[in-house]
Amino acid sequence: MSEIAGKIEFIKKKIGNGVKLVAVSKTKPPEDILEAYKSGHRIFGENKVQELVYKHETLPQDIEWHMIGHLQTNKVKYIASFISLVHSVDSLKVLRAVNNEAKKNNRIISCLFQVKIAQEDTKYGFSFGELIDVLESEEFSTFTNVKFAGLMGMATFTDSDEQIREEFRLLKNYFQELKNSYFSNIDYFSEISMGMSDDYEIAIEEGSTMIRVGSNIFGERIYL
Ligand SMILES: *Cc1c(COP(=O)(O)O)cnc(C)c1O
Repeated sequence: MSEIAGKIEFIKKKIGNGVKLVAVSKTKPPEDILEAYKSGHRIFGENKVQELVYKHETLPQDIEWHMIGHLQTNKVKYIASFISLVHSVDSLKVLRAVNNEAKKNNRIISCLFQVKIAQEDTKYGFSFGELIDVLESEEFSTFTNVKFAGLMGMATFTDSDEQIREEFRLLKNYFQELKNSYFSNIDYFSEISMGMSDDYEIAIEEGSTMIRVGSNIFGERIYL
């Protein structure tokens, strides 16, 4: 078994069947993704449109591609025909763009709302209040070509497990509130995408349904 396949198997064994693994392959070459693919893995996450398009064209067509990075509205059109899940709907503008491009492609695109839970000055993501405003807006009912599948969040980059745990707990609470108030009869509003290489164990203890793991599978990323 290849090293990459071994790492995926290790993580899958550890997280069990209730949690989905998104293998984050950003910056890694198609050959690395193929190694994972050959071991049976099908869900991969990328954070740049151009790279995502290239890999989608190059690699087997039954791969389920997830967009996990900030989307520029003018680039949504390049991925709208094939993207399986957008984790990073972080503004009303992005939501509009995804809905419009989904419509043009005759598709319904599954999306997660990215919510700010970190203490850091992160650029992207809704505050909980902003998200409520979107859900309460008249425009919301016009988004006929997106399917709201849940929330995504990233914890602060810190050594404090306690802080990370509190932030994940906050996201889970937000999810539960939204589920109760807006999505109680929508079964597919069910995903909480949280947890990366360094914190996925905590995330799962706090209710994650989907983890996004890169360096623990493919090794450290080198940015040139
Ligand atoms: C890069 C990235 C990950 C994976 O990070 P690792 O620490 O390598 O596991 C997860 N989520 C998002 C949004 C990312 O950009």
